[in-house]
Amino acid sequence: MDIFLLSSYIRHNSFLFASVAVLFFVCSISLNAQNQEPVKLNTVILDPGHGGKDAGAVGRISKEKEIVLDIALRVRDYLKQHLPELNVVMTRDKDVFVPLNERAVIANENDADLFVSIHANSMSTSRIYGAETFVLGLHRSEDNLEVAKKENSVIVLEDDYKAKYEGFDPNSTESYIIFELMQNVYLDQSIGFASAVQKQFRERVGRHDRGVKQAGFLVLRETSMPGVLVEVGFLSNRNEERYMNSEDGKVYLASAIFRAIRDYKEHFDKINSKLVTRSTFPGINSNTDNEQASNSSSAVQYRIQIASSQKQLEANQGVFKQFDSVWEYQEGDYYKYTTGLATSHEEILEKLPKVKQVVPDCFVVGFKDGKRIIP
Ligand SMILES: [Zn+2]
Repeated sequence: MDIFLLSSYIRHNSFLFASVAVLFFVCSISLNAQNQEPVKLNTVILDPGHGGKDAGAVGRISKEKEIVLDIALRVRDYLKQHLPELNVVMTRDKDVFVPLNERAVIANENDADLFVSIHANSMSTSRIYGAETFVLGLHRSEDNLEVAKKENSVIVLEDDYKAKYEGFDPNSTESYIIFELMQNVYLDQSIGFASAVQKQFRERVGRHDRGVKQAGFLVLRETSMPGVLVEVGFLSNRNEERYMNSEDGKVYLASAIFRAIRDYKEHFDKINSKLVTRSTFPGINSNTDNEQASNSSSAVQYRIQIASSQKQLEANQGVFKQFDSVWEYQEGDYYKYTTGLATSHEEILEKLPKVKQVVPDCFVVGFKDGKRIIP
């Protein structure tokens, strides 16, 4: 197993992650078109992987389904204690089998703002250890594909899985080609949150950081919100299994995930409330930064981002057909697609509701001198 391959995604994309760290705070501008009320991050789904007849990865002394449930329950309790206004929904809170698509239904029906799936990994070698967080996309290495295959293969325990998942064969590499063509509008937010999780693991918990990666996870594909799949550690590594089963290990891992959610919510809410203030008072000098803001805004171009893709997309394909113009820009390894053009923030916010009808999670981006800036 090549350790360099395993960490290739994050290592080779440091530019992307630096820029995403900025965009992270933009999040999706979930403005209510009628009353301009700010929409806060209200609902988080905690999804402990596996359960019941599906044990997940099995170590020497423990099973993945037990470890991840324990950690998820602790995350829930920390959130309830410290962020009582946040609605926390568990896809399971006991040892039961929950099909992957039902986990997604729970998330979608609760209109959640963030989906956090918690897993533990296992490999044929005991050498590999550390924590990694995945977002939905096409795998960049065979190892990432293997993780997705392993996590997706639980669907074979479900009745009618072939019909339910439209013939998707979790063990066939060919099945994963669909993730290459997929447009993931939540990619930026998901990577932002995934980076926050890994930062906590690295800096607060001292875990070996295996980075933010991409792979085709069915459970993330079926949820319509920013989402990640966290692999907290490897059951195939004896030390790590012991750590994940220790009281200290569980407390640290759970508090890292809790802190990442708290930070994500804090920035999400802050940015949304700022944007609402601006749109509610167009042109009014309501703060001391205003002169500077009005000087610079003359050169800012605003657009509405509707898709991100690792593959270049055609301007006349899929959802793009519904817009008069689609404008592409590149950032790191990603092609990003926007529509609409305005020279003021107020003007672009007027265009936003119409675009939201087609792409609910579209968001405003601003460019200055050809570079994207926070609007
Ligand atoms: Zn798992």
